[in-house]
Amino acid sequence: MTTMIRCISPVDGRVYAERPALGPGEADAVVARARAAQRDWLAVPLDERRRLVLAGIAALNAMKDVVVEEIAWQMGRPVRYGGEFGGVNERATYMAGIAEEALAPLVAQDDALFTRMIEREAVGVVFVVAPWNYPYLTAFNTIVPALIAGNAVVLKHASQTLLVGERIAEALARGGIPEGVFQNIVLDHAGTERLIANRSFGFVNFTGSVGGGQAIERAAAGTFTGLGLELGGKDPGYVMEDADLDWAVDVLMDGAMYNAGQCCCGIERIYVHERHFDDFVQRAVAWAGGLRLGNPFDAATTLGPMANVRFARLVRDQVADAVARGARPLIERQHHPADDGESAYVMPQILVNVDHSMSVMRDETFGPVVGIMPVKDDEEALRLMNDSPFGLTASLWTKDPDRALALGRRIETGTVFLNRADYVDPACTWTGCKDTGRGGSMSVLGYQAVTRPRSYHLRKAKP
Ligand code: NAP
Repeated sequence: MTTMIRCISPVDGRVYAERPALGPGEADAVVARARAAQRDWLAVPLDERRRLVLAGIAALNAMKDVVVEEIAWQMGRPVRYGGEFGGVNERATYMAGIAEEALAPLVAQDDALFTRMIEREAVGVVFVVAPWNYPYLTAFNTIVPALIAGNAVVLKHASQTLLVGERIAEALARGGIPEGVFQNIVLDHAGTERLIANRSFGFVNFTGSVGGGQAIERAAAGTFTGLGLELGGKDPGYVMEDADLDWAVDVLMDGAMYNAGQCCCGIERIYVHERHFDDFVQRAVAWAGGLRLGNPFDAATTLGPMANVRFARLVRDQVADAVARGARPLIERQHHPADDGESAYVMPQILVNVDHSMSVMRDETFGPVVGIMPVKDDEEALRLMNDSPFGLTASLWTKDPDRALALGRRIETGTVFLNRADYVDPACTWTGCKDTGRGGSMSVLGYQAVTRPRSYHLRKAKP
């Protein structure tokens, strides 16, 4: 029996798109096609591969209007934000620009006696399993370096953003990527895990939840397939006593609320030096007062619905649990009539009187909610920041970069930000620790995930 994969729009609850999941035979045929196409693709010079990938990105840019509208229907992001083109273009251009350097052989010796070096070799077929929250960015993070390095790519996108893979395939084909080199497939979880367990791929990049990452790791067990697992977060901000308060409020609150809080590196908890706590909270509430929750197609909307009512339910449950345990919510429902308490439209919320016994300060919320706590010094802030099962990013606010660096080195995290938050820098590896998973995308290291080393020890003369 064919399984149908459905995208239920959070905008109005209707089935926006549905596609049949591939059966085992069809999925195996996709992998076989990818393997065959990769052999020819690898023979294409690096410069030409890079040109074709960037032409695909340009073709996607030309589809901007339809892409922006589809994102709003599929996962609720307001159209005023214009899709993910800024980030996609920045990252693709950067990754294309460093390809030669990242893929160059490491030569230890090259003279009359020896050539000793390490080359990077494409792994073959790369499988990308992508989430819905930044459906283009998260997918391209791996697709771009994988293709440029000479791999074929198979993409399985999230059900919530079912049409994104089709758009990416269309754009890359328009850009001139040969048939079979990039394929989008629709699969259910069992079909996805079956392909991985069957050693279909040289590398799998999974971006998503901790539970999903664990399932992928189990599927790959014993196959020795390389895995990149980019999972959840509970990212902290820490505002020190010398911070620029307005700047900190603006960036941290945006980091907490943008995309309805559905950012892996969104700010979910804020620790403020006790001297500024009341002031910070007051300004944060004023900042949140500027948000407009509503239909993402309305130009005035700055906060759309969450991607799915089941995510909204989790957020409401966390807030209710925190309030029952003594947390104080500072945003009143009457300011956000679009939130009926049941739909995917969830009002922003700021919680004080919170502590780490509450789920909202421990578990990933992935919604427009932030808890704020006062701290007396760096040591207390450090203890609280590290009191988390996750480690993706930490955002420090001070005028003293040396202090930030020293403190940053003691935080269990993938990235330390100073006076910045919720940003993926393509020059810095995107990585995490603890339940955030392992591996790294972006930067020169991002090319290592999609290639394997091959050593050459060539003795050229008899000793
Ligand atoms: P998810 O439910 O784990 O799904 C992610 C992708 O994996 C989807 O394509 C999903 O397919 C598939 N999938 C999930 N479970 C699977 C399984 N057992 N077997 C095979 N495939 C499976 O995550 P999400 O809700 O889409 O995304 C939100 C999560 O992603 C958050 O936790 C967020 O923090 C994390 N995230 C992390 C990063 C990072 O860089 N660290 C970036 C973005 C998001 P279906 O959609 O069909 O279920």
